[in-house]
Amino acid sequence: MNNKKKCYLCDGTGKFKKPKDEDAFEKAFDRYDQLSDFISMGEARERALNDVGFTLIACPMCGGSGEANQ
Ligand SMILES: [Zn+2]
Repeated sequence: MNNKKKCYLCDGTGKFKKPKDEDAFEKAFDRYDQLSDFISMGEARERALNDVGFTLIACPMCGGSGEANQ
């Protein structure tokens, strides 16, 4: 039985993009989310992150391993 799952937060990369400004990120994300008929949630997040700026940190969900135990 394999109970290792790819971490959903970092998609198995072990890295997490942390917005430099959480408030600005929320606003930017909401703006892109209004377009969600056209773009996915993930894409809205990527665009908002690129607008606001981000730092790469070890994923807080899996601790950088990229694997989640469920
Ligand atoms: Zn992770």
